[in-house]
Amino acid sequence: MTMLTGAPFRIEPAAAPTPAARRRELVADPGFGRVFTDHLVSLRWSPRDGWHDGALTPYRPISLDPATVGLHYGQVVFEGLNAHRGEDGGVAVFRPHAHAARFRRSARRLAMPELPDDLFVAAVDTLVRHDRDWVGEAPGSCLYLRPLMFASEATLALRPALEYRFLLMAFASGGYFASGFGAVTVWVSETFTRAAPGGTGSVKCAGNYGGALLAQAEAAGQGCDQVVWLDPVERRQVEELGGMNLFFVYDDRLVTPPLTSTVLPGVTRECLLDLAPRLGLPVEEAPITVDRWRRDCASGALTEVFACGTAARVTPVGTVRSAGGEWRIGDGTPGPVTTRLARHLSAVQRGAVPGPPGWRYEIG
Ligand SMILES: *Cc1c(COP(=O)(O)O)cnc(C)c1O
Repeated sequence: MTMLTGAPFRIEPAAAPTPAARRRELVADPGFGRVFTDHLVSLRWSPRDGWHDGALTPYRPISLDPATVGLHYGQVVFEGLNAHRGEDGGVAVFRPHAHAARFRRSARRLAMPELPDDLFVAAVDTLVRHDRDWVGEAPGSCLYLRPLMFASEATLALRPALEYRFLLMAFASGGYFASGFGAVTVWVSETFTRAAPGGTGSVKCAGNYGGALLAQAEAAGQGCDQVVWLDPVERRQVEELGGMNLFFVYDDRLVTPPLTSTVLPGVTRECLLDLAPRLGLPVEEAPITVDRWRRDCASGALTEVFACGTAARVTPVGTVRSAGGEWRIGDGTPGPVTTRLARHLSAVQRGAVPGPPGWRYEIG
């Protein structure tokens, strides 16, 4: 693994970084998505120069031409990955190469230039090195990194843009759900679908999320935390949540829906498919219908369900609501398999137990 310690970036550190006492106060109670660090990494792309003008600058507003393509036609892709404080006090980014590869796939699907993996990882390295003091030490806290690429050319011609910008920002995260590790309630959407076959559901492009917000609002109106998306054709198979994949636990056997063109291939999902069998928990990728979900909960065969993602980590699902009624999973509280996997994944991320080689990218 090559260590590109910020070589391609001009460094312009913040003249007035957040004072340490204020930073500690913010990191102690960051919520999600609002406490940004002091710096930002940026790059530009043009057909003539390729990726260029790399810089680390203070976190600050950017100015855009009103005709910026990304704003009009949605040529926008992003990623989400975490940096954790390790057992030894050092900081490590979790699986940056896997996120870099998915970022390239997302860009390709939206007819955008691909950012080379080494440059993606160098950007991450540069930002985390400068803002490492923002990585919280409390259990459950981490630094969430948000790479973003958008078409920045100013034209309203409907074609792939000829200029792009990459931005990498970071915020302190205390966890996605206000309930902490409490079980969440999910709403099965029978009105809306998230993605269509041949569409963009398997990549992280901005439009997927804008299109899902009304369903999320519907779920909230039903007293639920998240939407369960069904397959868009028959509306019977369970696919995933809005930003998380799902696992079903049958005693000590795990089942997760297979990857189709309408499911986002989560890095956390892939990690659990790798880690669970090593803990004696066999895994299977197999379709599961809503009817079967309900029946297997009623019979007691299905003991636990959890969601997983970079932002949500491993989150237990306690209750399911749909237009047809409501059912509980187990006794509705976090189960032993979910709890064990959540602890194990967190330990691997923090380097407390060894994971597969290359998963932790140490900043030092
Ligand atoms: C990001 C995302 C996930 C989870 O992916 P991770 O790589 O584990 O963070 C799952 N579903 C959707 C729709 C997502 O956007």
